[in-house]
Amino acid sequence: MLVSQGENPFETVKRQLDQLAEIIGLDRDVLEQLKHPRRIIIVSVPIRMDNGRVQVYTGYRVQYNPWRGPYKGGVRYHPEVNLDEVKALAAWMTFKTAVVDIPYGGAKGGVACDPKRLSSEELERLTRRYTAMLAEDIGPFRDVPAPDVGTDAQTMAWIMDTYSSLKGYSIPEVVTGKPVSLGGSYGREAATGMGVALCVREAAKMVGLDLKNAIVAVQGYGKVGSWAARILGEMGCKVIAVTDVGGGVYNPNGLHPEKLKEYEQKNGSVAGYAEGSPITNEELFELECDILIPAALENVITEKNASNIEAKIISEGANGPTTPEADKILYEKKVFVIPDILANAGGVTVSYFEWVQNLNRDRWSLETVNQRLEEKMVKAFHEVFDLSQKHQASMRTAAYMLALERLSEAQLKLGLFP
Ligand code: NAD
Repeated sequence: MLVSQGENPFETVKRQLDQLAEIIGLDRDVLEQLKHPRRIIIVSVPIRMDNGRVQVYTGYRVQYNPWRGPYKGGVRYHPEVNLDEVKALAAWMTFKTAVVDIPYGGAKGGVACDPKRLSSEELERLTRRYTAMLAEDIGPFRDVPAPDVGTDAQTMAWIMDTYSSLKGYSIPEVVTGKPVSLGGSYGREAATGMGVALCVREAAKMVGLDLKNAIVAVQGYGKVGSWAARILGEMGCKVIAVTDVGGGVYNPNGLHPEKLKEYEQKNGSVAGYAEGSPITNEELFELECDILIPAALENVITEKNASNIEAKIISEGANGPTTPEADKILYEKKVFVIPDILANAGGVTVSYFEWVQNLNRDRWSLETVNQRLEEKMVKAFHEVFDLSQKHQASMRTAAYMLALERLSEAQLKLGLFP
């Protein structure tokens, strides 16, 4: 197993915050508050399995920070979901919504389960019961869930239906990432991958890399990784390696991102794809390539493999893929790292667009969504890049500077209640 090698992601968050607070001279009262989630909700979710027995799953929702708007963040279904992971992910959402300057706070949810081992009926019962148990904690102006690892548009439809049924009327704006037929936004599915790719495009200009035939390796071929690969392919790049939880595939002449996705959907993994040879997750990170896209889980780039990374640009599709120690090594090696809170903010940006459309009972065209997404991402990228130049800092430090500045300003204006 490649991920979760004993590293506690929430400790990483606190370490990151302490380091950054010192660099940027963050107000100590703001720092103190940002190191604590506002609310933590833990529920035991009983569901009847297909075999007639009752199984109880542990569900979480961490509402991290509300200074800039309602709580916002995805729901993860994965066997390794735990409180520290959800806390870290909720904190990163807080910084991410600030970096792209959308009026949300940060939250995250999760259920420790293996969705691949549950039938569709079991997943539906689990989602509905989890939603019902959180019905007083979520809501369109309170806390708005979205998809993450192991959940998708169908999961969001069940959340919307359960919440609406309990309230007695249709409330599409309680979740984002819904099917388009239920008020989902055009372009939401591709949005995170699109943001990852747009950041690569901008970074390539900064480092003088020609995207034509630039070589790409991708870890994780779910919603984020597969769209990033497809869009980078359309930009002229050559995707030579992809891995996921089941293994990986490598072809130095280039893989066909679309065909690989079809194979993955049929087989549940990219492993075994005929047009390439097998490759492990460990090998992927050390491949000779121009662009590396981690798009699976946390802590995959560590001090153990960072010095062997050959890529010129890393665009973090996943949340928290790089440990602080690895980050330092990459910075010294002059790898251009586009941090998660910027690189993968396209998803929450289009989630915000979806919420705005729902609240206005409106629908934007795909062209409008993509154009507004591009505007937001390019603006945020260059704000972060300019700060990094000004302070001779990494893109990650600069992204946190921007986020922490916006969060501090909000907190200082809000003051403290009572
Ligand atoms: P997904 O469930 O669609 O895909 C996850 C991918 O990771 C799959 O290919 C899976 O096989 C792979 N994976 C899981 N465990 C693995 C392991 N142990 N080793 C190697 N690969 C493994 O999830 P997603 O929505 O694409 O999310 C991927 C990452 O992007 C996560 O870190 C998530 O928090 C982040 N993210 C997602 C969104 C979004 O809009 N979906 C937005 C921002 C950030």
